[in-house]
Amino acid sequence: MPDVIQLLPDAVANQIAAGEVIQRPASVVKELLENAVDAGASEIKLIVKDAGKTLIRVTDNGCGMSETDARMSLERHATSKIRQANDLFAIRTLGFRGEALASIAAVAQFEVKTKRTEDELGTHIAVEGSKVTTQEACQAANGTSISVKNLFFNIPARRKFLKSNPVETRHIIDEFQRVALAYPGIHLSLFHNDQELFHLPKGSIRQRIVNIFGKHYNQRLVPVEEQTNIIGISGFIGKPDAARKTRGEQFFFVNNRFIKSNYHHHAVQAAFQELIPKGHHPSYFLFLEADPEAIDINIHPTKTEVKFEDEKAVYAIIRSVVQRSLGQYNIAPSIDFEQETSFDIPYAKHKDAPVAPTIEVDPEFNPFKTTSPGTSAGTAPRESALQRSNRENWESLYQDTPTPEAPRQEQVIQANWDEQPAAETKGSFAHQLYGTYILTKIKSGLLVVHQQRAHERILYERYRKALEARKGASQQLMFPLNVELPAADAELLKELMELINAMGFDLREFGQHAFVVHGVPADLPDSAPEALLEGILENFKGHRDLKLETRENLARSLARSAAVKVGATLQPEEMNTMIDALFACEMPYVSPTSLPTIITLSQEDLEARFKRL
Ligand code: ADP
Ligand code: MG
Repeated sequence: MPDVIQLLPDAVANQIAAGEVIQRPASVVKELLENAVDAGASEIKLIVKDAGKTLIRVTDNGCGMSETDARMSLERHATSKIRQANDLFAIRTLGFRGEALASIAAVAQFEVKTKRTEDELGTHIAVEGSKVTTQEACQAANGTSISVKNLFFNIPARRKFLKSNPVETRHIIDEFQRVALAYPGIHLSLFHNDQELFHLPKGSIRQRIVNIFGKHYNQRLVPVEEQTNIIGISGFIGKPDAARKTRGEQFFFVNNRFIKSNYHHHAVQAAFQELIPKGHHPSYFLFLEADPEAIDINIHPTKTEVKFEDEKAVYAIIRSVVQRSLGQYNIAPSIDFEQETSFDIPYAKHKDAPVAPTIEVDPEFNPFKTTSPGTSAGTAPRESALQRSNRENWESLYQDTPTPEAPRQEQVIQANWDEQPAAETKGSFAHQLYGTYILTKIKSGLLVVHQQRAHERILYERYRKALEARKGASQQLMFPLNVELPAADAELLKELMELINAMGFDLREFGQHAFVVHGVPADLPDSAPEALLEGILENFKGHRDLKLETRENLARSLARSAAVKVGATLQPEEMNTMIDALFACEMPYVSPTSLPTIITLSQEDLEARFKRL
């Protein structure tokens, strides 16, 4: 029997490859625009006729191609962007597979005109179904113009399956907008059937968003900006009140490549969770920057998916950073903390003499510990990447502050602010004001911490973790305590008992409406467990947000109930411990209910306020 295996003719192989890369006119648009961006163009014009079914033309003023390169660019696996397999892991360009042009030329009438600045004449090549029909020198502007006519002319089945013109046009506009958002520095325009749909001069990302989606977007946008050691995030989110029922404008870019990811979408949605009605969707334009070696963009032929080395950390970072921007946006209208007193109301004025609140110190948390590179994950198992970066940011706030050994004039003045002795916080001082705020100096100015909200945040994160791990540290009471509750409360407590115990209580039923408390969470004062329990139940009933799961509500309730209140006097060490613990949180900037925990007054802010009237 003769051998039967043969290599596919190139034209057929290209057609098969095209099936993966080119599904519709919009796929051609995407590939051509990306090539123009990769070519370093500062101006790109897209012309489309009949939803791209008749003509797609992309003209750029990028680097152009030599005659040989122009011819080579049409070969499959021909790319100028990768030379070695290793390059795959350090890709900064949009294209790299060297498949697009070959694929397009296999399924359309294809024409390229291109010229490099240094060449006198340009090159004109025409291809039809992978066969070169023309190759000649020609007059041409610097840059490249590629025309794709009658897509799928040689594959009637595929052409038949194209959708209506409005649908295919929508897809084209989507691709165009993605590139336009990722590259606000490039002047872009789109013409459809001779009508200019978009005219986008070079500008900032905010200007680009407004140019594309309309003027009303300008006041809706809240900036997002954060650099962590895993990723950088920048861009904008829409204010919660602008969220809409339709899915709307949601854009994720990783290293300027548009990415579809339900996972990361969920992270943003989670940050908005309590701020927008159910069924509404926030809009966002988020740009993630990651080390190309730490991501894999090669998992999908059209490259709209991405995989991060540390998916979970990225999720947490996105969520927190968005949450913080929302928190900061919430402060903007007023910096008046006094207005928010809803949970300052004491849960139960207890007969016991007031106890000085104690603040638990995480014995393993050492703000000065530097993790050795390479083993960071192993050495600090309790600290997430986000916490680490918060802490590092926090430490860097102090970098310029003078050390306590060398007190300067300004510190001496500061020390007189309050009667109580000034404490040292990493070389600075912490002071309490109005029994509500902790003031401390940081490199850039003054940091003001809201003690109750900060403590709620710290405790909340601790209980959340305990609930997830189902083992909160517990401290046994020397004398177990009987607690009798009204029938309804007793029922509620029975329902919640398992979870409450997971936070560190040791609570057992004892008759119909009675319980015995054998232990309480290790970080809480053990003098009033009864008040603590009542507080949890009160808070749980009063603040229960039905959208949230029980654990979330419980963690919040206990945090609210156990946190130091406004009015409580804090000792200097307590203030310092509190500030350190706050910045060791995953989300230090807002309380569990998204109210700001800190504000900063920079030197510029102060100077601005001391200007001549
Ligand atoms: P890839 O973009 O993955 O490298 P393509 O098939 O899209 O593969 O393009 C093949 C090559 O053709 C590119 O690597 C680039 O060198 C060249 N090329 C394509 N379009 C342009 C353009 N608009 N300007 C300059 N060079 C281009
Ligand atoms: Mg390409």
